[in-house]
Amino acid sequence: MNDPARAGSALQVAEGRRQDGGPCPCCGEPTELVWGYVNDETAGPLCVYYVQWTPGPAAHDAHFDLIVGPWGEGTRAADRSGVSLVYRRDAASITIVDAAARSFSHDQQLFGRALTREALLGTPLAATVYQLLDVIWQGDTRLGALTAPPRRS
Ligand SMILES: [Zn+2]
Repeated sequence: MNDPARAGSALQVAEGRRQDGGPCPCCGEPTELVWGYVNDETAGPLCVYYVQWTPGPAAHDAHFDLIVGPWGEGTRAADRSGVSLVYRRDAASITIVDAAARSFSHDQQLFGRALTREALLGTPLAATVYQLLDVIWQGDTRLGALTAPPRRS
């Protein structure tokens, strides 16, 4: 079973497309949106992720939306969860937030549950999410636009 928590160390990022993320909700400036997935060498895809940010002023946060769980043949949306984090660029910190408030949770059929911060904090899945984030941060070259690696908060 390709459970992220039991995945080996051979995790690799596959970069997907970069696309227009639409206007920033706060200021209307264009946003960047990139996506990709994390593959385990033996278990297959463990996570699809989207990162959205507004280039320019560091005061703009970046949003990390992850769909965590097994992907591919024989898996179901109910096996996967939506998880969201906010990366504060001025503090280089990253925080788990409620996934249901993010647009990737609206009208989607890719995962069963959009997790709240409370539901995720302190669980084994949270540890997995941070592990995946480390892999994403190191593996996705496009995130170099986001100043410094995040500290957890
Ligand atoms: Zn803005």
